[in-house]
Amino acid sequence: VALLLVFSLSTVLLSAQTTNVAKMNRFLDSLLRIMTLEEKIGQMNQYSSDFAATGPITKDGDKQTQIRKGLIGSYLNVTGAERTRSLQEIAMQSRLKIPLLFGQDVIHGYRTIFPLPLAEAASWDMDAIELSARIAAIEASAAGIHWTFAPMVDISRDPRWGRVMEGAGEDPLLGSFIAKARVKGFQGKGFGYTDAVLACVKHFAAYGAAVGGRDYNSVDMSNRMLYETYLPPFKAAADAGAATFMNSFNDLNGIPATGNRFLQRDILKGQWKFTGFVVSDWGSVGEMVNHGYAKDNYEAAMLAANAGSDMDMESRAYIQHLARLVKEGKVKMSVIDDAVRRILRKKYELGLFTDPYKFSNVEREKQQWNNPQHLAAAKEIAAKSIVLLKNEKQLLPISKQTKKIALIGPLVKAVKEHLGFWSYDWDDDSVRVPSLYQAVQNKVSSATQLLYAKGCELTDTSSTGFAEAVNTAANADVVVMYVGEKRDMSGEAKSRSNIHIPGVQEELIKAVVATGKPVVVLIAAGRPLVFNWTAENVPAILYTWWLGTKGADAIADVLFGDYNPSGKLPMTFPRSEGQIPVYYNHYNTGRPAKSETDVNYVSAYTDLLNSPQYPFGFGLSYTQFEYSDIQLNKSSFKAGETLTATVTVINNGNYDGEEVVQLYTRDITGSVVRPVKELKAFQKIKLKKGESKQVQFTLTANDLRFYNGQLQYIYEPGEFHLFIGGNSRDGKKVKFELKK
Ligand code: BGC
Repeated sequence: VALLLVFSLSTVLLSAQTTNVAKMNRFLDSLLRIMTLEEKIGQMNQYSSDFAATGPITKDGDKQTQIRKGLIGSYLNVTGAERTRSLQEIAMQSRLKIPLLFGQDVIHGYRTIFPLPLAEAASWDMDAIELSARIAAIEASAAGIHWTFAPMVDISRDPRWGRVMEGAGEDPLLGSFIAKARVKGFQGKGFGYTDAVLACVKHFAAYGAAVGGRDYNSVDMSNRMLYETYLPPFKAAADAGAATFMNSFNDLNGIPATGNRFLQRDILKGQWKFTGFVVSDWGSVGEMVNHGYAKDNYEAAMLAANAGSDMDMESRAYIQHLARLVKEGKVKMSVIDDAVRRILRKKYELGLFTDPYKFSNVEREKQQWNNPQHLAAAKEIAAKSIVLLKNEKQLLPISKQTKKIALIGPLVKAVKEHLGFWSYDWDDDSVRVPSLYQAVQNKVSSATQLLYAKGCELTDTSSTGFAEAVNTAANADVVVMYVGEKRDMSGEAKSRSNIHIPGVQEELIKAVVATGKPVVVLIAAGRPLVFNWTAENVPAILYTWWLGTKGADAIADVLFGDYNPSGKLPMTFPRSEGQIPVYYNHYNTGRPAKSETDVNYVSAYTDLLNSPQYPFGFGLSYTQFEYSDIQLNKSSFKAGETLTATVTVINNGNYDGEEVVQLYTRDITGSVVRPVKELKAFQKIKLKKGESKQVQFTLTANDLRFYNGQLQYIYEPGEFHLFIGGNSRDGKKVKFELKK
């Protein structure tokens, strides 16, 4: 009976869905039939707001006239329930009353700011990542936002590229899991709920492979590399139901992504059957003129629309030229209809045709200010994002009974810096961000004395503050130094050729360490930095990225042992800029180095160790995890069978803790060369002190697939190595065979 009930219930649901889709299609058909060409092109046109930042919408009368004429389909950068409502009211005065779609870069939180996406990736915790996107959507949707330009899923192997802060790092598998978690978080239970926003997966594609890590730069790569490394997170996001995609600024093999038919029509809308719409990146339609791909905006509009870019963000190329292009037969009416249908469909799915104001509710917006649950979640994921890089002699955690703690460095009293790039500074009192100094003060009792010295500015070269810092350190039992980048040093258009800790901060570290006091260094940044001296000479290092509204509280939790760090690096940390790109899943050469220092006619630099500073997947804990040997259920298996790999992980340190158990494989011989290691699976486990757990992974032949020379996604029989460990460098190893 129960089965029957489930069966009939799902039939009912299915048929309800089909009728809903049929109903929607009928609605869209009839709307498209009565739209003029100009109104259709209006839907494909997106502007950024240049209205005053606060207060009622008064400026830009011309745009208001355009909204009334139905010539604007979407806005970005209009924030707040009141402001989105007042613009929507103007749209309701247009002939067809098609609602505006409001988009915004809600990248790592809206009111409550979460860690940078790269930092969150270090948590390897998909539930936490999904939750942070969920909360961002709840807060943003309450402020009238329908659509976030996130997640950014660009793989990057180049920390010089400032936008690594916005992605999930270098690995396609981790990146795919995170892409999916973020899409699920933003889109929630589905459109129709007022707290679900459309996700926009960006930047399609290969934007993270810009030559030299210089933002917006060209990308030239084989299609095999594209499919193997750069596309998987996009595909995962599309499969997770992502509503929209954004194309990218770069050219790919000579064709700008915005005018790239292969990417947008063949792969995305063709092979992947993506039914959402594609928005250009800011001005990227018009930028095809600079690329030297289009003669002028007229030609750019033609190339972009024909290639499958459905909406023009801020180039004004569509609104100015598409009508003529259609009349001249250079863009088919079917191309316009397809783009407009895709856009209208999302407005329909959001329920905006039924209630255009459903997201613009001032009361609901206010409820989301300083929401304690959101703040608690922000603190939790901030703590999970911190990576312990070094902890000699168990210097950390610091005892709360310590008599004198010196807090030294230019970030100790910084507040807004914690929010990082792509975040909003609420100038009202609605979001409070503590400094590290305040957070530490809240942690310790009045018996602990806090000493403070700034030491130097973040980027200045003056060392006049060093003497005071050294004296302060000399007076303390333990020293905590907080150094790093400025929040706007990593982000869009923030590529750097020198990624050392800026200014004289590392010199300050040297001066303080010379006092002989125990020193803990906290490094804040939006990318992997280079800090060899610190890595070698400072006993304890925590990488804290930018962690958002509750970042300082999370750091204090970790410093004093209220949270045991569990983060693992989502990107390889280089020893020097000259080593970039350095990444764990590289191919072998015919002359691999035999040791760390081997430079004898091998693939190496003669002036640098062969390893990176810290490998992908690396991160310590206050406790120690020990791994048993790997047990396989069989040493060889065939397609259709499963291979299980089991290890026992023991927590034999002094603290409860979490560990990310990582499984990598290496395909020893292939019809094309294969990476020396590839992440295939991971599990984050919790172990009480003294506890041990069996961790089991199941692989099938499908997990061993790759793109061969003909771009077929296949597995090949042969010998493999399988590694399990706590990072991509160290681990246990076994062999197995995939049989014919
Ligand atoms: C960025 C996009 C962003 C857009 C809108 C562009 O410059 O590349 O990621 O969504 O601006 O702000």
